[in-house]
Amino acid sequence: MIIPENLKASGLPAFFTNRNEGIEPGGLSHISGIPEEAIYMPIQRHTDLVFVLEEFCCPEVADAVVTARKGVLLGVRVADCLPILVYDRKREIVAAVHAGWRGTAKGILGKTIKVMTDRFSSGVDDILIAFGPSIRGCCYDVNGDVLSAVEAATGDGDYILWRGGKVYIDLVFANRIQALSMGLPDENLWMAGECTYCLPERFFSYRCSKTEKRQGGFIGLKDGNVNR
Ligand SMILES: [Zn+2]
Repeated sequence: MIIPENLKASGLPAFFTNRNEGIEPGGLSHISGIPEEAIYMPIQRHTDLVFVLEEFCCPEVADAVVTARKGVLLGVRVADCLPILVYDRKREIVAAVHAGWRGTAKGILGKTIKVMTDRFSSGVDDILIAFGPSIRGCCYDVNGDVLSAVEAATGDGDYILWRGGKVYIDLVFANRIQALSMGLPDENLWMAGECTYCLPERFFSYRCSKTEKRQGGFIGLKDGNVNR
């Protein structure tokens, strides 16, 4: 389990799992202190749909979930794609985002931030973001179509790396640029260093093993009525 440095002080359950912890509800409940039945993971389809969870119900098709509701653990499943946790420390809003190259090309993180600023009146200075383990620029070689799509949403930057006639992209750096362009201060952003493809003994990597299994990123607001 990885606990983002910038969310530690919040006292929230906010963490990224590895291949041992995975996405098994019992384990997530144990780690977070939130009951299994209050764990919400959307049906991920590499969309740019941001679901605002008001009443806890069945999973919706979305690749980002935002909530102000307490006592719910939001999560996204990944194996190379980037899990992103978002927290408005002033208004107490949380979000979990799934960003592969498609989500990154569709600007899903920016769209999540926009939902927070528009619907919840979040200020960008109050939004903290943690980027979890994903495939990184060391390993993620992509074709020209993928590069063009991500570049159209992100602009130029240090997330594009050319080596040996191939082009590699770094999903963390691309999403970092997108967050900065929304006006978030750099000091509000935290990045896990790990590359899932480099560390198959620690993380599921779809590219490495074509696995169906997933780890995840999880965040929730504690229920004020329950003393955990
Ligand atoms: Zn790597």
